[in-house]
Amino acid sequence: MKVLVLNCGSSSLKYQLINMDTEEVLAKGIAERIGIAGSFVKHEATGKEKVVIEDTMENHKAAIKIVLDCLVHETHGAINSMTEISAVGHRVVHGGEKFAGSVIINEEVKATLEECSELAPLHNPPNLMGIYACEEILPSVPMVGVFDTAFHQTMPKSSYLYALPYELYDKYKIRRYGFHGTSHKYVAMRAADILGKPLEELKIVTCHLGNGASIAAVDRGKSIDTSMGFTPLEGLAMGTRCGDMDPAITTFLMEKEGLTSGELNNLMNKKSGVLGISGVSSDFRDIETAADEGNERAVMALEVYNKRVKKYIGAYAAEMGGLDAVVFTAGLGENSKETRKSVCEGLEFLGIKIDDNKNNVRGKETIVTTDDSNTKVLLIPTNEELMIARETKALI
Ligand code: AMP
Repeated sequence: MKVLVLNCGSSSLKYQLINMDTEEVLAKGIAERIGIAGSFVKHEATGKEKVVIEDTMENHKAAIKIVLDCLVHETHGAINSMTEISAVGHRVVHGGEKFAGSVIINEEVKATLEECSELAPLHNPPNLMGIYACEEILPSVPMVGVFDTAFHQTMPKSSYLYALPYELYDKYKIRRYGFHGTSHKYVAMRAADILGKPLEELKIVTCHLGNGASIAAVDRGKSIDTSMGFTPLEGLAMGTRCGDMDPAITTFLMEKEGLTSGELNNLMNKKSGVLGISGVSSDFRDIETAADEGNERAVMALEVYNKRVKKYIGAYAAEMGGLDAVVFTAGLGENSKETRKSVCEGLEFLGIKIDDNKNNVRGKETIVTTDDSNTKVLLIPTNEELMIARETKALI
């Protein structure tokens, strides 16, 4: 069974074709600059030359057509015919309160997703465009929606309610949703496998530290709290997002700087985080280099970032009443031994002892703590595409 996994952004489309009998990636790539001049697809079938196809893609439908042409291409393709695609798994960012798990996409689901777009105006509309485009191009192929929010739907009300007038929850569904759920679920499951223990017996904190970053408390397999909230802005400091701050700063800034709500949103989402503090970059590689060269703001950006990750680990250990493992994943979590080391420094009281030799690794499943460390710290590369393909296969 071959599953095509699609992740549609506003002007991009990432894809993977996975053989679910072996879980082997047959082809993967990305279409970029959809709807903008200079669009192209970077495509690579496993074991074949990577190709770049420059072509006009006025919308997601045009992009998907080109991707499908690539998949069945004589020289750089991965399959002989589109009929080999048994199902399409779509990454959908926001499932609201309606979806606590993945679903087969039908008319009712599409209508509900349209409703959820209000909660994720930047993310859900392109996800829906991908769904509508596939429906037209591959009308007989079943589709599954896998939601970033679904894994966190197990949170208790005490974790997801904000201390605002309760009517606002009823009226607008203002609450914590959490994101990156597919990644948190995948790495928590892998951690249990690697540790050789049932997930249902483990208390795990999963740290997805990429350009966007979030932490989850996974108590015996269920997300019971997570750092991102109503939107992905809450929680950790990120590449360009501010994360947690006193909400009164927003109205203060609007008044003092004469900002509109749109400008303020832009400031908090695009100009803040480690970029805002360091003034150097949103990329941790650049910030680490600047910090090594003595740039004080870069040093401060890393310290603010790491301290907040540490705070959440402590908070979630307290919330779960214990801690068996901490998992680091995504760009920074998988690649930066310095981040893992400084986040875990001082957490010996939680039973964590980092082994510097084992921690000197990148992008490979590894336990980075000493053998006698009571709480294990793991590096686990995330694989959201495989998780989406697995959920798709399970439903089909
Ligand atoms: P992601 O969103 O998971 O693709 O993560 C992207 C981010 O990971 C980049 O913006 C970098 O900040 C960070 N990153 C990737 N590679 C490294 C590395 N070798 N060292 C430090 N940070 C890295």
